[in-house]
Amino acid sequence: MSQDVEKQLLADVPDGLYIGGEWRAAADGGTLEVRDPATGGAVKRIASAGVADGTAALDAASEAFPDWASTPVRERAELLRRAFDLVQERKEDFALLMTIEMGKPLAEARGEVAYGGEFLRWFSEQAAHVQGRYGANPEGTGRMIVSQHPVGPCYLITPWNFPLAMATRKIAPALAAGCTVVVKPAALTPLTTLYFAKVLQDAGLPDGVVNVITTSSSGPVSEAIIADPRLRKLSFTGSTQVGKKLLEQAAGGVLRTSMELGGNAPFVVFDDADLGKAVDGAIAAKFRNIGQACTAANRFIVQAGVADEFARRVTERVKGFKTGRGTEEGVMIGPLIDDKAVSKAEELVRDAIDRGATLRAGGGPIDGPGSFYAATVLTDVRPGSDILSEEIFGPVVTIMAFEDEDEAVRLANDTEYGLVSYVYTESLARGQRMIEKLQTGMMGLNVGVVSNAAAPFGGWKLSGLGREGGAEGIHEYLQTKYTLTANPFG
Ligand code: NAD
Repeated sequence: MSQDVEKQLLADVPDGLYIGGEWRAAADGGTLEVRDPATGGAVKRIASAGVADGTAALDAASEAFPDWASTPVRERAELLRRAFDLVQERKEDFALLMTIEMGKPLAEARGEVAYGGEFLRWFSEQAAHVQGRYGANPEGTGRMIVSQHPVGPCYLITPWNFPLAMATRKIAPALAAGCTVVVKPAALTPLTTLYFAKVLQDAGLPDGVVNVITTSSSGPVSEAIIADPRLRKLSFTGSTQVGKKLLEQAAGGVLRTSMELGGNAPFVVFDDADLGKAVDGAIAAKFRNIGQACTAANRFIVQAGVADEFARRVTERVKGFKTGRGTEEGVMIGPLIDDKAVSKAEELVRDAIDRGATLRAGGGPIDGPGSFYAATVLTDVRPGSDILSEEIFGPVVTIMAFEDEDEAVRLANDTEYGLVSYVYTESLARGQRMIEKLQTGMMGLNVGVVSNAAAPFGGWKLSGLGREGGAEGIHEYLQTKYTLTANPFG
């Protein structure tokens, strides 16, 4: 990838806040610097919003709301469809931008453009399918009308790990439902959202319908927006720790909330599984996004009879991975998002080894510039190791063995999270039993990646509230009104 292409692309990304259809500097002149995690070098300086800018963004969203809410559904849908087409036209730009600011390999970034773009098309199709009900009450004395209405101005907070998809997964259903929004991307990867705002502008988005604030003071800026009585909905994707704090703040205004939080996915392999498929699925479930996904397999729970062979095959694959900047050909392992993430992986792996785990591959940071951690495999991970209860968010496989199905279920459910679970078995009945027994919002049965715009994505337990995508996703941005009218026949 030529440096000139990267330079030109970065120059094309707006560096201001997008408020009321205008690009502007922060009121107090604040800025923040975005870095490339593969080199540690700065790539662009952009505006950093303060509390006043957050309020200005909510002013714009509130002002635009009545017109947008009453814009014909077909027009809203067509705008989303134009945005989808523009994302396809600029897919190489979006992919490269995500690789630069987030570090994922370019091939995966292209996959995210396809996945993230799809939310625009999916919700452009869903928009016209929101329906109500009309019917007589049981006594026959009246007529009941049930109708759906946009909830109002929304605040959307996204994480750094999927910079395009996490934004479109919220913006598209909100706009389809008739809501206006203020979007706050993560300070580590804000460029993709700014570039996407430009796409929306080019697609003909009316001023104020989408506002983007980038900031290095997420806490105070968000708190002021959430406390503002004009806000009606908060949608957050990020850690459970921050999500809990935001839920407390949202209680003040009794806001509608959607919370897509952390995960600790079990990946269960039974001895009747197709081991080749299970290994392929394991590599996808673990190493997609360099292990930095809420859906990443965190604990490999493998039946004793096949555990050694599974570990041997996974280790062989891992030892063949190429590590480097995501723009290099054939790279599987890019950098972690920052040095803090590297330290966390180091601590978790050290703790697991201290408690008796066996290191089969990798096992530490990689010297040189950038935040790299070697793809790692640990076997015989002991109960009580921190790595089994915390999100690893790095390229580390942890394998432990189990004897029978009851033990597999107990181990898989032994977590406060419940986002996704993976199960490999060739037995239909066993697969069905696992669907019924696992405490999880989503499940991959002989499949290592479950994300899809048409699926209701979301978790049980501490993994969150609400669903994004699918037929459910638009309802997160709608509220129900019931009206009783008289019997028109007297
Ligand atoms: P994070 O919670 O640190 O940050 C998420 C977002 O919240 C960022 O925009 C951040 O700037 C903002 N934020 C941080 N502190 C805040 C505060 N006090 N008030 C308001 N906003 C604040 O999470 P992260 O490190 O960006 O992302 C990784 C986490 O996200 C992981 O836990 C992962 O599992 C989770 N995640 C969940 C899903 C899902 O759909 N369930 C998807 C992707 C990531």
